[in-house]
Amino acid sequence: MKWSQAYIPTLRDDPAEAELISHKLLMRAGYIRKVTAGVYNYLPLMQRVLQKITNIVREEMDRSGALEITMPVLHPAEVWQASGRWDVIGREQMRLQDRHNRWLCLGATHEEIVTDLIKGELQSYRQLPKNLYQIQVKFRDEIRPRFGLMRGREFIMKDAYTFDRDEKSQEKSYQNMVDAYFRAFERCGFEIRKVEGDTGAMGGTGAHEFMVIVDTDGGESTIYYCDSCDYAATDEKAGFREHGETSDEEMLEREEVHTPGMKTIEEVTGYLKLPAKKLVKTLLYRADDEVVAALIRGDRNINEVKLVNYLGCNNLEMADEQTVMKLTGADVGFAGPYELKDVRLVVDHEVKGLRNFVTGANKTDYHFLNVNHPRDFKFHETVDLKMAEAGERCPRCENGKLKSDRGIEVGNTFKLGTKYSSSLGANFIDEDGNEKPFIMGSYGIGITRTAQAAVERFNDKDGIIWPKAIAPYGIIIIYTNSSDDKQIELAERLYMELRGKGIEVLLDDRDERAGVKFKDADLIGIPLKVVVGERGMKEGIVEVKIRNTGEAHKVNITEAVEGIIRIFEKVD
Ligand code: ATP
Ligand code: MG
Repeated sequence: MKWSQAYIPTLRDDPAEAELISHKLLMRAGYIRKVTAGVYNYLPLMQRVLQKITNIVREEMDRSGALEITMPVLHPAEVWQASGRWDVIGREQMRLQDRHNRWLCLGATHEEIVTDLIKGELQSYRQLPKNLYQIQVKFRDEIRPRFGLMRGREFIMKDAYTFDRDEKSQEKSYQNMVDAYFRAFERCGFEIRKVEGDTGAMGGTGAHEFMVIVDTDGGESTIYYCDSCDYAATDEKAGFREHGETSDEEMLEREEVHTPGMKTIEEVTGYLKLPAKKLVKTLLYRADDEVVAALIRGDRNINEVKLVNYLGCNNLEMADEQTVMKLTGADVGFAGPYELKDVRLVVDHEVKGLRNFVTGANKTDYHFLNVNHPRDFKFHETVDLKMAEAGERCPRCENGKLKSDRGIEVGNTFKLGTKYSSSLGANFIDEDGNEKPFIMGSYGIGITRTAQAAVERFNDKDGIIWPKAIAPYGIIIIYTNSSDDKQIELAERLYMELRGKGIEVLLDDRDERAGVKFKDADLIGIPLKVVVGERGMKEGIVEVKIRNTGEAHKVNITEAVEGIIRIFEKVD
């Protein structure tokens, strides 16, 4: 491609709305343009990158034995109602009505459709296992679409679905996908980390997420991993070994203290001169139709995913102000378990061993000192509700400590069990003649997110640094003086010959200053730059520079094509 004929609208300045480096770079380098929140045009360079990632993913899916299909974007409400997810996914689903007022939605994921597809068609255990996949646009009305392609409302995903007859076979299918993921991401130029994930709204029996580790704000996910064994999990999932301490303090008299306007842990502990560990937070939630108070030590953060999983509810949100006032008789910020009626208490394990702690007094501007159970309140449900923290003990091995990293989730794998096959009545006849529901798995890769993750992971002050396998072009050729016919002639010749060897080349044939061309080449991130310049022409050489290492070589004009290819082959 010649730049003069291409469509690469680079920008001089960072777009104001972009926060992440990768978002800024994709905009500035002319890869993407926003249409509306979470919806983008993919320009020609982006299209090429997406195509490459897609091809790699497709090849690895095919290699693993998965079969490509295309399912519709438009789904009837009925299948989603049948699985029970129409109400669970709720507002994240893009919904519409047709001219007959029938409800439809745009596919956010395809468990329902694929299960409905195979139902009645895969009938015998002899036809199993099966793995069906597609690469397609998905729609999700994310609460906070942001960071460019990282969290879009319309994005491209590879989604695969497996059908097995039993757990053992499912385990193989699952591992097969995990292996394919490692191959695919490695080929894209990434190191990825596989971590245990929460199964969330998907339902099911186990999940992993595949993370690109970054140390920027692009790392929306926090992961915890052990410094001595291979335990690794998302923050939603991670646990740690609890200390199980039980205080042997003597129970003291409960005492009401005036804490005017002090609602936060910091305010209360600062005022009472007590460590946050001595406080117990009482967090009131509405869980579907019920109000739940979650009790957790003041220095801990609550993990709402754990609470949802424990309660098995569809919807969890903080109770609104009116509900809090009605139940506690106090302003928000002064709730406590003492004489708290009509509320289900769910208590974190750690609270069990505490003595003489501080809670809200269910009275505006007051807290209690020396609260104790079971004297002051009783509970029947204890559970782990804590967010993990770096420095805590590994839940799996003896001596390990948890460390944390930030990552971008580019893919995930779920063991679904029979949630969808059972609810949608998708069964097969097993060897013993019995009808059984399929054991299913579901496996996603965010194609567009992966593309941007590459930029977030690989860049420098000058621009993008694409891994060679997914770069829009492998080589860019620049001539520095556009009124020098000799330069143009040589550049054109190299361009033709390298293309003849199957290499994707961009020739910057614009009538621009050399400085502008160099800047743009770095900005758009082409792995190898070939410069045909004044001095080189005199010396009979072209200069070749590798984008990711900065390494520069001189190659004789007489054997330029071979020399360039030799260097190109070594680039990662
Ligand atoms: P997240 O936790 O980031 O919301 P998810 O658990 O909803 O992701 P899945 O439903 O499993 O993700 O989707 C599979 C893959 O699709 C994810 O691993 C991610 O790479 C990608 N993906 C999910 N949501 C988006 C989005 N809004 N924009 C771009 N890619 C996305
Ligand atoms: Mg999501």
